[in-house]
Amino acid sequence: MNIENWNLDMPVAGLGPYDPQNIFARILRGELPCNRIYEDDYALAFHDIHPRAPVHVLIIPKLPYVSLADFTAQASPEQIGGFFKAVGAVAKQLNLEAPGYRILANMGAHGHQEVPHFHVHLFGGRPLGPMLVEF
Ligand code: AMP
Repeated sequence: MNIENWNLDMPVAGLGPYDPQNIFARILRGELPCNRIYEDDYALAFHDIHPRAPVHVLIIPKLPYVSLADFTAQASPEQIGGFFKAVGAVAKQLNLEAPGYRILANMGAHGHQEVPHFHVHLFGGRPLGPMLVEF
């Protein structure tokens, strides 16, 4: 599916209809800049504008999915596989495999998701501590 003719009528599990004006959609269309570090047919990766670690990168699928629920329900196995291969490729490109890193995807209100285009955060560059600050 080309970026110019996204099917926005597809049913969405979880977070309501896809908003084509969200900030990552605008980055994908080239309407807003990003500090790009990786791109292939399935994914685009760029530095987070407010980094929470020495390395903080966002990896986003190139097609319009609101959440992981939406992505895994609607995207093809090729798209899903291609996307997660891209996550691994970005970590490798950043030399994070040996020291280690963390990936995280926020979903919906409890997940504190701010941008309604599915994305994976990749953190690294120092020991990251326990998974959650507090429980
Ligand atoms: P989330 O809370 O998981 O939806 O995370 C959204 C992330 O997008 C936050 O970490 C923001 O700092 C980041 N962000 C928002 N706008 C931009 C932008 N224009 N370029 C890069 N990162 C952004």
